[in-house]
Amino acid sequence: MVLYSPGRTSSYPTDPVDSGIRIHFLGGGDEVGNVGCVLEDKTGTRILIDYGLAPTRPPRYPSECPPIDHAIITHSHIDHIGMAPWLVGHHGTRLHGTTLTAAVSEMMWRDTYKVSSIEGYPLPWDMRDLDAALGAWETHDIGEWFEIGAWRLRFHLAGHIPGAAMIEIETPELRLLWGGDMDTRQNPNVAGAKPVKCDILCIESTYGGREHPNRLEEEARLVARVKEVVSRGGLALIPAFASGRCQDILRILHTAVPHLEVHFDGMGTRVTKHWMNNPEHIHQPEGLEKVWRWARKVRSKSDRKKALNADVIVTTSGMLDGGPAIWYLNRLRHDSANAILLTGYQAEGSGGRSLLDNGRLPIFGNITPVDLEVSQFQLSNHAGHSELRSFIRACEPRHVVFFHGDTEAREAISAEFTQQPTPSLPLNGTSLNLK
Ligand SMILES: [Zn+2]
Repeated sequence: MVLYSPGRTSSYPTDPVDSGIRIHFLGGGDEVGNVGCVLEDKTGTRILIDYGLAPTRPPRYPSECPPIDHAIITHSHIDHIGMAPWLVGHHGTRLHGTTLTAAVSEMMWRDTYKVSSIEGYPLPWDMRDLDAALGAWETHDIGEWFEIGAWRLRFHLAGHIPGAAMIEIETPELRLLWGGDMDTRQNPNVAGAKPVKCDILCIESTYGGREHPNRLEEEARLVARVKEVVSRGGLALIPAFASGRCQDILRILHTAVPHLEVHFDGMGTRVTKHWMNNPEHIHQPEGLEKVWRWARKVRSKSDRKKALNADVIVTTSGMLDGGPAIWYLNRLRHDSANAILLTGYQAEGSGGRSLLDNGRLPIFGNITPVDLEVSQFQLSNHAGHSELRSFIRACEPRHVVFFHGDTEAREAISAEFTQQPTPSLPLNGTSLNLK
């Protein structure tokens, strides 16, 4: 566990910036998730972008943030917001984000707090910090300029998930675009990100060097598996992340197989309500409303038992690390007509990864063999290699900073840019100064 001792452990330099902009990664530089990055220029204007935690066991945190008055929160995934309550509790930081990000963050923080107590990894923040964070939001509409110190800033749609934003920053010397987690492709619930002309582009590299399969073909493959499972008398259990993937899966199924009985359980149901309250962030929001009315929401223990007779159950957790998915799996594992359709990346050490590699996973603490069909689908909401390359070219930056990626991914995408723009591959705990 990382111990935070305010004011003493930060890797942030103490010398002033003489020109350009200093970009200092506290976390998320040479790794996926766990993001925290300080930006500062010679006017003394200083902001933090994101402050997450990586939900590994034990969790990983970015290094300590220096005193900071303003943080931009790009979206509500825990690897970007998990440590924001610490920031507010210790530095009184204001949090800037979209209304939807602010709404969903509360749920994510409360869930993280609950999980940390269950798993025995105490968080560096407590419920008082969480309460303070709820009162620290300043929300902004997409495209609306606002000011922090000597800078003007505005959000742009990032694709990825509803509410996710890129941030454009105009300093007296230059224009910087921070892409956050982003995707330029249309997905079922959000439109893709559009390029923004800038001098410096900071961009994620999760899928550097890797191409996604065609999105529509992958969706069709999922639908075909669901049909096959149902036609043999089975039930398809679809574990999916609460914020993004669950809702994508439901929209795909509603379009392709509206006659099936699909039950929806877990935290994703509450996230969806926030989405519907913020329709300006949703692609064709009336479509989501229809999906919401169509899917059978599980609200009680008896609903959960009834769901065992459905055709499909869409629920959390997306990596089979707990949540209703495990309860269902424990009941469904005895009938070989059933299937588990995994809809995303399964991290090392997760239940889903163990199921794929070894055919067994922990169910209520016991390692349990599961002899069912297990399929996996690539429905990522991050830009793949070609999308990143095209987006970068269209932004026409002088410098491109690749973060949020492992070494191989960052080197692969940076190899596309040898002269203009000049690429940087920052490491955590180090500063770049770009002009
Ligand atoms: Zn994300």
